[in-house]
Amino acid sequence: MNEIARPNNLDAFWMPYSANRAFKANPRMLARAEGMYYYTNDNREILDGTAGLWCCNAGHGRREIVEAIQRQAAVLDFAPTFQMGHPIAFQAAARLAEITPEGMDRVFFTNSGSESADTALKIALAYHRARGEAGRTRLIGRERGYHGVGFGGMSVGGIGTNRKQFGAMLPYVDHLPHTLDLARNAFSAGLPAHGAEAADALEALVALHGAETIAAVMVEPVAGSTGVLPPPEGYLARLRAICDRHGILLIFDEVITGFGRMGTNFGAERLGTTPDIMTMAKGLTNAAVPMGAVAVGHGIYDAIVHGAPAGIELFHGYTYSGHPLASAAAIATMDLQRAEDLPGRARAIEPYWERSMHSLRGLANVIDIRNAGLIAGIELSPRAGKPTDRAVRVFQRCFDAGLLIRTTGDIIALSPPLIVETAHVDRIVETLGDAIRAEAA
Ligand code: PLP
Repeated sequence: MNEIARPNNLDAFWMPYSANRAFKANPRMLARAEGMYYYTNDNREILDGTAGLWCCNAGHGRREIVEAIQRQAAVLDFAPTFQMGHPIAFQAAARLAEITPEGMDRVFFTNSGSESADTALKIALAYHRARGEAGRTRLIGRERGYHGVGFGGMSVGGIGTNRKQFGAMLPYVDHLPHTLDLARNAFSAGLPAHGAEAADALEALVALHGAETIAAVMVEPVAGSTGVLPPPEGYLARLRAICDRHGILLIFDEVITGFGRMGTNFGAERLGTTPDIMTMAKGLTNAAVPMGAVAVGHGIYDAIVHGAPAGIELFHGYTYSGHPLASAAAIATMDLQRAEDLPGRARAIEPYWERSMHSLRGLANVIDIRNAGLIAGIELSPRAGKPTDRAVRVFQRCFDAGLLIRTTGDIIALSPPLIVETAHVDRIVETLGDAIRAEAA
């Protein structure tokens, strides 16, 4: 095993969102990947139950994507997109605009989900200013929402642990209540039946702050990072209607629900509600090169771009917006998605996925199972006085047995690559079931 696969110094890398001390005492090193599997540095096969971090939707090491990146690197490594252009960035935007919801065909490129969230919020603010409504500065998020780690996304996000370490937040932010309701909806297969009325909390915020102060509402169609919270039936449509009534922009954070995960190109399509602004990342390039994007309709683009005096219209962008390698990866990924009908594959296996996940019902400490598209959340009751301990130990047991899962609090989140087959699903259920049983005490 070479030194790249087996580093002997773990000190320098301050790992993100990690228990650095625990990891460095007991490292879990993924050295290579192919298809549905990772391989550890001692060459153990690990079934990928999480598509990396909700992002390798087409599976790992896809030759078409690898070769597109290699070809592009040899032709044009980098060129700026500030006042300059290169063809492949325009091609990537046009390709993406073909699959975004009808009319949402203006695309701003970023490098991550966090940058997409902050970009979307800034576009919302700029839109209202361009139309003479500069008073609309308030941003509404939702409890348990995750929109990355920039100041905008963190502030609009609704996760206490992400906020309390830092203190300083954007002002003029408020939150809707989250939609998880175990009392009424535990073990729902697909969207929960109860809770659409939680959207009415937006009316209450309008009454409190005045619609004329509210720029946008940002939610994930299915909240992922805080433990898989599918929206109650009718909830998103109700939110849409309230936004329309009050001139508030609706932003969907489609960073994990995009690119086939919901059995359609985007969650918006599957869930039947179209936002005004949509954020993307992750599956856009199959995660082979970092890239994010924000899509908007003509109304927003035209108000900002055609409403501005000559010169730069939006004072925002990243050195790597539309990076050539990311653009090449995005086009190759979207080609693969289309050629292999990955959204269709996800849809076809979804009933099996749903049944299999819910077969874990009845195991000790399993208090809820939730699913939407090729996503599942399995909530465990926490160990008395030791929140997260049970889930962390289930995670380690799964890893030792050759399965990668993800945990958040005491919730297990699963989101396999969309090329998953029934035998993989069976193995996920078996390995996870064994781990949960082993942690029953
Ligand atoms: N938005 C959502 C819904 C996410 O799930 C994530 C990451 O998991 C992000 C934003 C942040 O993306 P990134 O880590 O690429 O900044």
